[in-house]
Amino acid sequence: MKRKSTAILASTGMVGQRFVQLLEDHPWFEISVLAASERSAGKKYKDACVWRMETEMPKEIGEMTVVNTDIKSVKKASDVDLIFSALPGDIAGPIETAFASEYPVLSKAAAHRMEEDVPLLIPEVNPEHLELINVQRRRRGWSGFLSTDPNCSTIQMVMTLKPLMKFGLRRVIVTTMQALSGAGYPGVASLDIIDNVIPYIAKEEEKMETETKKLLGVFDGEKIRPANIYISACCNRVNVKDGHLEVIYVDLETKPSVEEVKEAFRSFVGEPQILNLPSAPKKPIIVRDEIDRPQPRLDRDAGRGMSVVVGRIRSDPIMTIKYLCLGHNTIRGAAGAGILSAELMAAKGYI
Ligand code: NAP
Repeated sequence: MKRKSTAILASTGMVGQRFVQLLEDHPWFEISVLAASERSAGKKYKDACVWRMETEMPKEIGEMTVVNTDIKSVKKASDVDLIFSALPGDIAGPIETAFASEYPVLSKAAAHRMEEDVPLLIPEVNPEHLELINVQRRRRGWSGFLSTDPNCSTIQMVMTLKPLMKFGLRRVIVTTMQALSGAGYPGVASLDIIDNVIPYIAKEEEKMETETKKLLGVFDGEKIRPANIYISACCNRVNVKDGHLEVIYVDLETKPSVEEVKEAFRSFVGEPQILNLPSAPKKPIIVRDEIDRPQPRLDRDAGRGMSVVVGRIRSDPIMTIKYLCLGHNTIRGAAGAGILSAELMAAKGYI
């Protein structure tokens, strides 16, 4: 099969670099265009980018010239079949809309996530929401389309909430301990975070609270009817490089036992596993029984960074069950999520 050609917007940032790393040797997609800001345009990628991945920058990618982030520049560089956008949320809105009128755009940014006709997708959780693309094209008259992935801390939490829906999920309380790479590069100043925890991440709590209801909602043929659950989030930045850890309390109507909840996590699979998509982890959720897991350093690379690891699952005297969950924020929470979404769209004929 001929690989589909892709452009990466904001290719020089933390998420953009992760796209570059994960797309090296991808069986279905290849990188044809690297775009970034005016500061980087015209430079070779290796000179424009402060490479912060654990593996070497692919040689041929390093030699590519970065282009400006507009349709004309991308078109001039190459024909592309789809666009991965890792643009900052505050500038992504109009840029992504312009690209989406001609190209399939898969965005990591918050700008369009809550729009009525824009899918907010976790392939294992709500693949049926992809049908919103047909609604969007009908309404907007675009030849392309726009789809979004949720916020990083939301993705890993919602992957664990989905299998609990069958027990009648009513209320969720979540406290996050979020890694530094979640703030991009160079991100949080070292003097602010060494020997410290910062109990505030701008807009993060609101994103977890609103995006979750859309993700677990029902597509009624025109729009998503949000899930009827209550959720309260408290988000903190901690001195960890990669991997968000979250403490989650859930109130479940049918009061399942701890064993039943563990079994629901262990047996959870979605369409990516059924379709055997290239980036799908065999186990979307891995249950650890040790008393002191999950931990960011030990567990963030589980399932090549695409699995969510849960542990310390126990009953709770106020809610029903409490547990911890951990996910790699720039893989399952960002670039890996975008690539898995693209694989699902390719498998279903959207791109
Ligand atoms: P980052 O490391 O700060 O990178 C920012 C990127 O945006 C750089 O490539 C930069 O290019 C580009 N950029 C800045 N201004 C631009 C402009 N005016 N026009 C075009 N490109 C511009 O940020 P990040 O962590 O990669 O985050 C990127 C996006 O992903 C954000 O929307 C973020 O909320 C989202 N996200 C991040 C994570 C995470 O774990 N980091 C997870 C989920 C979602 P230059 O190098 O040329 O300045």
